[in-house]
Amino acid sequence: MADLFIDGQWVAGAKGLTREIYCPADGSLVGVVDEATRQDTELAIRAARLAFDDGRWSTVSATERGAFLNRVADLLERDSEVIATAEARDTGKRIIEARYDVGDIVSSFRWFAGLANTNQGRIVEPGATGVFSRVAYEPVGVCGLITPWNYPLLQAAWKVAPALAAGNTFVIKPSELTPHTTIRLMKVLAEAGLPDGVANLVLGAGAEAGAPLSDHPDVDMVSFTGGVITGRRIMAAAAGTVKKVALELGGKNPNIIFADADLDAAIDNAATAIFLHSGQVCSAGARLIVEESIHDLVVDRVVAIAESIRLGGPFDPDAESGALISSDHRAKVDAYVQRGVAEGAVLRCGGKAPDGAEFADGYYYLPTVLDGCNTAMSCVQDESFGPVLTVETFSDEAEAIALGNDTIYGLAGAVWTNDLNRAQRVANALRHGTIWINDYHPYRPSAEWGGFKQSGVGRELGIAGFAEYVEPKHIYQNLSPAPSGWFAGAESPDA
Ligand code: NAD
Repeated sequence: MADLFIDGQWVAGAKGLTREIYCPADGSLVGVVDEATRQDTELAIRAARLAFDDGRWSTVSATERGAFLNRVADLLERDSEVIATAEARDTGKRIIEARYDVGDIVSSFRWFAGLANTNQGRIVEPGATGVFSRVAYEPVGVCGLITPWNYPLLQAAWKVAPALAAGNTFVIKPSELTPHTTIRLMKVLAEAGLPDGVANLVLGAGAEAGAPLSDHPDVDMVSFTGGVITGRRIMAAAAGTVKKVALELGGKNPNIIFADADLDAAIDNAATAIFLHSGQVCSAGARLIVEESIHDLVVDRVVAIAESIRLGGPFDPDAESGALISSDHRAKVDAYVQRGVAEGAVLRCGGKAPDGAEFADGYYYLPTVLDGCNTAMSCVQDESFGPVLTVETFSDEAEAIALGNDTIYGLAGAVWTNDLNRAQRVANALRHGTIWINDYHPYRPSAEWGGFKQSGVGRELGIAGFAEYVEPKHIYQNLSPAPSGWFAGAESPDA
C-alpha cells in the first residue's frame, strides 16, 4: 500500500502511519490509507520546488497545458462512476449527488483548460520613446493546496485545474476524512502525462501533514478551503514567509423572502438551500429572513418539507439526504441547536438524531428549524454546517438588507421578490460574494466564487480564480541605453 504521491512515485509515509476511513452513513470501513508526517510533506514540497525551478511544467506551452487539462477531464468522465462511488462512501452523500459533483469537476477542468491559453501577457504604453514595456503573466511557483471534506474532489478541482493551467507545481492535502477521490485524481494526472514532481499528494491531519504548506519557505502560495478558524491559523502561519494566501472559508448565508415573491418557488428552494447535503455546504441558506406578513405561511411549509425529508445512505434509492460527516461534527451541530434553544429560539422540528435501527451506525441528524431567532443569538451568527435553519423576520427592505449583512461572513445570499427593481437594490446592498435572485445554489465555473469579509480572501473559478495562480511581471526594456545623469558623479570621466 502506498497512498502518498511524491515526485511521481506512490510511497508510504516515512513513519509508516496509517488511517482508517469509515463511511459516515453506516460506519463501514472504506479503506486504510497512509498518513504523512511533516517530514513527508517537506519531501513533497522539495519535489514540487525542483519541478518548478527546472521549468518542466512552466515551460510547456499554454496550449499544451490546456490540452492536458482537457485530457484530464476526459479521463475523469471515463472514471466518473468509480469516482462518484468513492466520494459517496467517503462523505456519506447520496450517489446521485456525487454524480453531479463529478459533472461539476469535469466542467471545472474544462473551464480552466479554456483559460490556459488566455494568459498571453500584454504590451503596455511605454511612457517614452525608445522603450519596450510589457507585462508577462507567470506562474506563482509551488502551491500548497488544502481542501475540506464536504465536496472533496470538487474543491480540489477548483485549485488543481487553475494551478496547472497557469504552469505551477503543487502539493495537495485533502481532508483526512475523505482522501480517496484525490488519490484517484493523482492517478489520472499521471495517466494523462503530467511530468513527475509537478503534482504531489500528502494525506493526514492538518496540524501535522498540512501545516508545512502554510509555513514552509519553499511554498510560494497557499490556497485553503475550510473553516474560518483554520483559515485564520493558516493566514497567520503564512505571514512568516509572506506567501500569497487564498482562502475560501465558511458562510452564514441569508435567504431573504419578500411577501410578493413566488412563494411556491421560494419555500421549496428555502428547504433545498439549507437541507441539501444535510447543510454541509459553505453557501447553505442557513438564515431564512422572511417578511413578517408571510412568516407563518412560509415557516409552516418549510417545516412540513423538513419533516418529510427521507434520510438514508448513499445507495438507498429512497433517500433524499444523507448523514453528517462524523460523530464529532454531529455533536457540534447538536450543541449549536441546544445553544439556540437555550437562547430563546423555538424548535419547530428536528433537533436530534433520527430514531430507528437503520440510522444507528451513521451520523444522521434530523432537518431542524429554529424559529423566533434574532441576530443576537449565536445560532444566527455561527456557522453550524449542519441541517439547521434559523428564522428571522423583517418589516421593510432596509431591515431585510441590514439583517442580511449582520454577519462576520459574506459568502452567499439570496433574495426572493417579484419587484425586479427591489431585487437589484437588495442584491447590490448585500455584502456577499454570490447573490441569487429568485433562485438558490446554482453556480457557474465561469463566474467567480468566494467571500467578502471573513468568508475569505481571493476568488476561485471565473477569471479571478485563474489570476490567483498567476504573478504579473513588468518587463521594461530601454532600446537606447544612456546614462541617467541623475547624480553629478555619475558623469563619464571623459566628459
Ligand atoms: P477544516 O478547516 O476543519 O479543515 C479543512 C482542511 O484544512 C482539512 O484538510 C484539514 O486537515 C486542514 N487543516 C486543519 N488544520 C490545519 C492546519 N493547521 N494547517 C494546514 N491544514 C489544516 O474544515 P472542514 O471541516 O474540512 O470543512 C468545513 C468548512 O469548510 C466549513 O466551514 C465550510 O464553510 C468551509 N467550506 C468553504 C467553502 C468555500 O468555497 N468557501 C467550500 C467548502 C467548505
